[in-house]
Amino acid sequence: MEYPKVELHCHMDGAIPERLFIKYCREDGLVPEGMSDEEWMKRNVMSGTMSLSECMGLFGILTGVLQCKERLEELCFELLKDMYESGSKLVELRFSPQSHVNENLTMEEAVEAVLRGRKRAQEVYPDMVSGIIVCMMNLGLNLGTVENNIRTVELAAEYKDQGVVGLDLAGDECATPIEDYEPMFALARKLGVKYTIHAGESGSASNVAFAISQGGKRIGHGIHSIEDDKVVDELVEKGILLEVSTTSNYYSRCVPSLEEHPIRKLWDRGVKININTDDPGLMGITLKHEYELLQRLFGFTEKEFILSNLYAAKESFCEGKEKIIAELEEAYSRC
Ligand SMILES: [Zn+2]
Repeated sequence: MEYPKVELHCHMDGAIPERLFIKYCREDGLVPEGMSDEEWMKRNVMSGTMSLSECMGLFGILTGVLQCKERLEELCFELLKDMYESGSKLVELRFSPQSHVNENLTMEEAVEAVLRGRKRAQEVYPDMVSGIIVCMMNLGLNLGTVENNIRTVELAAEYKDQGVVGLDLAGDECATPIEDYEPMFALARKLGVKYTIHAGESGSASNVAFAISQGGKRIGHGIHSIEDDKVVDELVEKGILLEVSTTSNYYSRCVPSLEEHPIRKLWDRGVKININTDDPGLMGITLKHEYELLQRLFGFTEKEFILSNLYAAKESFCEGKEKIIAELEEAYSRC
């Protein structure tokens, strides 16, 4: 059955289309002379056998090639285009403005460049609903600063009417205590900024409990909630949506194997879940791949997929999503 897909958790840098990644790496002279595109991609796509430091190295290359306005605008435009054309009609893309200021950009300029890309995509696909989430970074790996995180919250508020729909906390969840970021979420609440929080991805169920305590309706991953029945019960009671990315959780060592991923258990307990790619470019996957995986490993049905998209559409931070919700409700009732 045809129905609009909803993707809420996709990192713009990690989702870079292969053609752009190769183009930027070649322009920047990163590809050794004589090396084919295929060979370069083989080295730069994650796999289940890569070490964590190798994976982090890949992020380093990605961030390195995304330090100018032109590329940020192009990346956002091309990515939204690809997503729309593969069936995602309601899309939220996220990125960390402070990760793109190594050369001459300011955080504002990075946000404005991405928003220009989004605006162009909206002009080409007027029935697509899209929004940008700006990410604060966990400070543990020197990926961010307190000042820049505060500035990120302010930017989310300042660009609210121009396509920035929310805020996130990303980076290495275990590097510093998640409670340290409480003041940022308090500021977000004060400024009327909606947020989701990466919690219970590599971290424990207690991090999910913290995210719940912050009053948001969405959590990035949250899969380790499975370790604490009370936390799972609370997710169900409060109707909180988990943005889950199965392959990504395996590649980043958050579950021991794909088969042991708790998505089916959480879904059967009544937790609302939606399906995302997280970093599809870096991992060499697509959203379609994730659906097929869940169908094959855990027997997810089309009806369940439609319901999962409906949950996501309802919890999306974007405005103008009513038509997509209606289409999903219609598809669900026919299934
Ligand atoms: Zn993520």
